[in-house]
Amino acid sequence: MSEFINHYTPSADLLKDKCIMITGAGDGIGKTVAKTFAAHGATVILLGRTSAKLEAVYDEIEAAGNPQAAIFPLDLATASMEQFEQLAEAIENMFGRLDGLVHNASLLGQRTPLSNYHYTTWQQVIQVNVNATFGLTKALLPLLEQSAAGSIVFSSSSVGRKGRAFWGAYSVSKFATEGMMQVLADELDGVSKIRANSVNPGATRTNMRASAYPAEDPKTVATPESIMPTYLYLMGDASRDVNGKQFNAQQ
Ligand code: NDP
Repeated sequence: MSEFINHYTPSADLLKDKCIMITGAGDGIGKTVAKTFAAHGATVILLGRTSAKLEAVYDEIEAAGNPQAAIFPLDLATASMEQFEQLAEAIENMFGRLDGLVHNASLLGQRTPLSNYHYTTWQQVIQVNVNATFGLTKALLPLLEQSAAGSIVFSSSSVGRKGRAFWGAYSVSKFATEGMMQVLADELDGVSKIRANSVNPGATRTNMRASAYPAEDPKTVATPESIMPTYLYLMGDASRDVNGKQFNAQQ
């Protein structure tokens, strides 16, 4: 059963003093999540593979007068466990803890039958969407434990809840993401202040959506801004006791 947050109005300072990492923060939904969280008082840690994009988001946050962001350029397709641990160490030195982690970066891969799917593309998609998500989670859990109420948000998809033809490794990776969320949430239940939940953004106006649906008029698709209430809810204290749940950001 998926949940939908209706009529959630976050306070302006909802995320004041919170320190939150967003992966894939340079573009699309991740960029909007980063700017929105900063606008609600969070210090955001921008992780992504294209430095120029991360710097542009950093500048926008600064220009808006919101808390100064931090930038960590990292390509999740090649990142090693050692690099994830170095990242955790750097965050510990800078902030001493982590209050939130949004696993947002993903690769779409090919839209083709499994019988045609390239093995190398399969490996890249699983690497970024699943293996890197695990490595980053493992490295950052001790810092999330230092938070009064840590929140991990996993990005899912409708094809991660029901398989669909031609969605290949992407669909399978999102099933794995849901599985990772559920295993982790069950492990955390009753023994940790950290919570883990998943969000299916629904059709959202980004580059990924445009490459999956090239014939679609982007104006007919929801903006990233319009789906922010669910992300804010999952980072704010209203969801403190919500763990192991699947959310839809659109009805
Ligand atoms: P985009 O492709 O628009 O943005 C993805 C971001 O992730 C980009 O900033 C990209 O970096 C980054 N990224 C990709 N690969 C890597 C990598 N190897 N290392 C580091 N960063 C990387 O996607 P969306 O914003 O549309 O999607 C965000 C999330 O929402 C994803 O998990 C997606 O699966 C999910 N989703 C989206 C839907 C939609 O309709 N948009 C629907 C359902 C789920 P760069 O900018 O450098 O390319």
